[in-house]
Amino acid sequence: MIIEKTYQTVRLVLGDQLNIQHSWFKNASEKKPHQVNDDTLYVIAELKQEATYVKHHIQKICAFFAAMESFSKELAARGYHVLYLTLDDTANFSSLNELITTIVTKAKAQTFAYQQPDEYRLQQQLRFLAQNASFQDQGIELIEASTDHFLIDFADIPHYIKPDQHNLMETFYRKMRKKFGILMNGDQPLGGKWNYDAENRKKFKAGDYQYIPQPLVFSNDVSAYLARIEKHQIPYFGKKELSIVWPQSRAQSLSLLEYFCENCLPNFGNFQDAMTTTHPYQWSLYHSRLSFTLNSKMISPAEVIQAAIIAYEAQPNLISLAQIEGFIRQILGWREYIRCVYWVNMPNYKKHNHLNAQQHLPEYFWSGNTKMACMNQAISQSLDYAYAHHIQRLMVTGNFCLLTGIQPDEVDAWYLGIYIDAIEWVEMPNTRGMSLFADGGYVATKPYSSSGNYINKMSDYCRHCFYDVKQKTTRDACPFNSLYWVFMNKHRQRLATNPRSSMVYRNWDKQNDEKKQAILQRGQWCLSHLEEL
Ligand code: FAD
Ligand code: SF4
Repeated sequence: MIIEKTYQTVRLVLGDQLNIQHSWFKNASEKKPHQVNDDTLYVIAELKQEATYVKHHIQKICAFFAAMESFSKELAARGYHVLYLTLDDTANFSSLNELITTIVTKAKAQTFAYQQPDEYRLQQQLRFLAQNASFQDQGIELIEASTDHFLIDFADIPHYIKPDQHNLMETFYRKMRKKFGILMNGDQPLGGKWNYDAENRKKFKAGDYQYIPQPLVFSNDVSAYLARIEKHQIPYFGKKELSIVWPQSRAQSLSLLEYFCENCLPNFGNFQDAMTTTHPYQWSLYHSRLSFTLNSKMISPAEVIQAAIIAYEAQPNLISLAQIEGFIRQILGWREYIRCVYWVNMPNYKKHNHLNAQQHLPEYFWSGNTKMACMNQAISQSLDYAYAHHIQRLMVTGNFCLLTGIQPDEVDAWYLGIYIDAIEWVEMPNTRGMSLFADGGYVATKPYSSSGNYINKMSDYCRHCFYDVKQKTTRDACPFNSLYWVFMNKHRQRLATNPRSSMVYRNWDKQNDEKKQAILQRGQWCLSHLEEL
């Protein structure tokens, strides 16, 4: 590694910190090369530790590397001094900290700065540099800057969410609406209601299919990254593509945002929870697919919200209040809320297994090879695109893992590896919290458990399934139906006192013993033959 001159400061930009609007690059677009601070070196590095801390989908590794390199080129074009290191350059360093120490020493820098990582693991690792002997000997100053990305400042998180307890998302969301004055009329919600869920969340009917928009996809060449990943024997899974559909630059990210506002937002809330297998665009539907570009910080939540509101105000006849509210809730509400839950509860959050789930993840999570049509669709699509939408993650694969009691560490590793947008701060509270109830209710008020009925209500999956969703006990009965009752029975003591679950138990108790026994027997069979389902 050659560093041609000395620098006063070395600044590290991690792969999910590709934020050109960061204060480090203030007015970057207006700066001429000679105005850029000549004394600062920016380091962006493809790292084995990041590519291997969990086994990732190949498209995810390629998408991050492609976005990182494109960001470094953008910085260089604006006159910044950038050191972009490929896997070839970094392979011989045993850790990120060893790499940083070498660069800072070679550059003879007096200051090393990084942006606050969103992941606890990396935050600890970078803070550990303060104890580094060579940093101490040379009196190198360590600066941790904000990422300038989220709507809530890191230091303010404890004012919004309390640790070790349930914090209602709805309360948090209303506070955010008021604080930022979004969709508000004075101190009241625009239209008089905070929540339009009841008007949204429809299933597709026959006539709806013709309007599903063709997704805007990119064809970004990732062959060079693939070659490096293979050369360095980075383990991966998922469909290998030479060019991928995910945005790799801010310009592409902004096109995706614009495309979403124009084509998907008018129906976003309506079909937010719908699933289908009978349409060529079934993998994308009306979803924004902005999570990768948001989580890598190529665009900010504030500008996504602003673009959506501008689109709504320009065309209120096309985009109803219910649609815009449904979307704003995801970004202003869920995304910020989840980040707060993560940070106030880490590192303990990672250890929770409230329901003592101990089963192993079945093999078909890595192949999609199962007779359950819903699981086949959600998993195969995830392997093909590194993407599934929220309800596929929550109510199909997540629900299955909850009902069958899969060990949360294994479930976390799968979600963290497979999704293009998966970074621990957002993956873990969604998986361990919302989906598995492993946190005992910090995120959800009760487990999101359901039988095949819910999947049948929101999709056409069951029509194409080997199993019969109407059956509970026969050999071809939908596994979700009996697994649901085994789960509810097993956790009766914990759940029966919850007013939201008690009705379910009253209905169960009314059934005759023989029927209940047959359902539980079928459920036990499914549990002991998970690999065969
Ligand atoms: P859209 O449906 O278009 O929603 C718009 C945006 O809202 C998303 O891009 C996302 O930024 C935000 N959003 C919506 N719901 C959530 C949520 N629950 N938490 C945080 N942000 C939300 N999201 C991730 O970004 N990374 C993950 O690793 C991740 N893992 C998940 C695991 C499970 C088990 C579940 C149930 C959900 C997970 N989510 C995760 C949340 C959500 O499913 C994805 O954000 C969403 O599917 C991304 O697709 P999209 O951009 O098309 O979203
Ligand atoms: Fe899934 Fe059951 Fe429907 Fe098959 S019948 S698609 S397993 S919910």
